[in-house]
Amino acid sequence: MQYVSTRDVSTSYMASQAIIQGLAPDGGLMTPFYIPKLPGKALEDLKSMSYQHRAVYIMKQFLEEFSVKELTDFAAAAYGPEKFDTPAVAPVRSLDGNTHCLELWHGPTCAFKDMALQMLPHLLTASLTKREEEKTVCILVATSGDTGKGALEGFKDVPHTRIMVFYPRDGVSQVQELQMVTQEGNNVGVTAVRGNFDDAQSGVKRLFSDGELRRTLADRGFFFSSANSINWGRVLPQIVYYISAYCDLLRDEKIAPGQTINVCVPTGNFGNILAAYYAREMGVPIGKLICASNSNNVLTDFIRTGVYDRKRPFHNTMSPSMDILISSNLERLLFALTQDTQEVKQYMEQLNASGRYEVRKPILERLQKLFQGYCCDDRETQRVIGEVYRQHDYLIDPHTAVAFSALDQYRKESGDDTPCVVVSTASPFKFCDNVLGALGVTEVAQGLDALDQLSAKTGLPAPAPLSSLRNKEIRFTRTVEKENMVDAVLSMLV
Ligand SMILES: *Cc1c(COP(=O)(O)O)cnc(C)c1O
Repeated sequence: MQYVSTRDVSTSYMASQAIIQGLAPDGGLMTPFYIPKLPGKALEDLKSMSYQHRAVYIMKQFLEEFSVKELTDFAAAAYGPEKFDTPAVAPVRSLDGNTHCLELWHGPTCAFKDMALQMLPHLLTASLTKREEEKTVCILVATSGDTGKGALEGFKDVPHTRIMVFYPRDGVSQVQELQMVTQEGNNVGVTAVRGNFDDAQSGVKRLFSDGELRRTLADRGFFFSSANSINWGRVLPQIVYYISAYCDLLRDEKIAPGQTINVCVPTGNFGNILAAYYAREMGVPIGKLICASNSNNVLTDFIRTGVYDRKRPFHNTMSPSMDILISSNLERLLFALTQDTQEVKQYMEQLNASGRYEVRKPILERLQKLFQGYCCDDRETQRVIGEVYRQHDYLIDPHTAVAFSALDQYRKESGDDTPCVVVSTASPFKFCDNVLGALGVTEVAQGLDALDQLSAKTGLPAPAPLSSLRNKEIRFTRTVEKENMVDAVLSMLV
């Protein structure tokens, strides 16, 4: 299996190179040259396997350089009982005969980022060994919440790695901050930056491009890498759970062999729904891919009109992990739909220069055959949390609620009642205040006490990784000015 840049197919790379580099030298995204098809009876075979074995089977199709033994060890470590609170790993919970919720928040940080960030460190360190890289990799992350904690948990105490996370001091929730500053592990660092997420993010970008810093680090035996969602090592583990969900539905006789399902995904950077597209390409009978957005609805407009226009107001919503106006992974879909790197490059250059591009008519037609886009605002999000709870006695977080709203709109508009897998991306306990509000509670408790309040209201236990934050020691208290982030890195890499 060869990997190429979405902007140039003339150079090909091995999977290990794609995973180490993240981005291609021309700025494109490293992407498989073709998507392998599952053999005819693969879904039948996978049906009786554990999640871990399904992961090995599916990832192996893309990773020739990695042995089955290696991948088996990775899957056992990434998705084992110390990490996930259910042996199913990514269980499917059926709300009615044709509405099935795929729960991706049973990992150590209670958000779907764990599905990939538990696997990525294994893929990355093995790739470094295969490329005979002897330096220690230093992962730098700027986070507005879920990614930072997910990456810290994934990389903690992984040999030959260090990880440093920067978060905006006043830009994350209290629970999210506690999750990060209590992080355990001997190779981790967490630093608050005075400023907002953009300050932290542009600070990290500066560190990456600081030639002098790179040389200093190389002398000390380190080099920089990134764990953000455009890395192929993050997209690949996400394909697994779509195939796994289909196999669960088959196994539990909720669908018949070959029967078509739709999927509905709460979307930000387009990584999660892209993995669903790849699962479809591999041969899973997926009909429509329903792309759900909050008020930052740039993708809804794109799917409806073919115009991608990021020049619009940015909204801070109650589904913050979807507050994104540049969905980076969309570039991989454009590559698949156009099969033309020159065309992809032009669109990306236009986006860079003017904040906008419009795809050609045949590309829009291909897009609309596969995708439907819907969006909703915060009021609708809260309404849906309350409605799903009352109708199905099932508690969902605000991101997942955006997907339920989209599915509702799709079904009303199309009359299509094909069984649908709705992707649930976070535990509702991560967003207690808005969830309590949706259930009609007006006086919401402060900080971690809101966990107890939501438990008392619903009878559900708070996930252990969140309730145990109370007893954790605070390990990181440093705040730096955005100009001084380099000091935090240098003091850690000695
Ligand atoms: C990251 C995230 C999303 C968005 O996923 P993308 O792959 O960026 O589209 C949705 N919900 C939650 C809870 C997330 O953390």
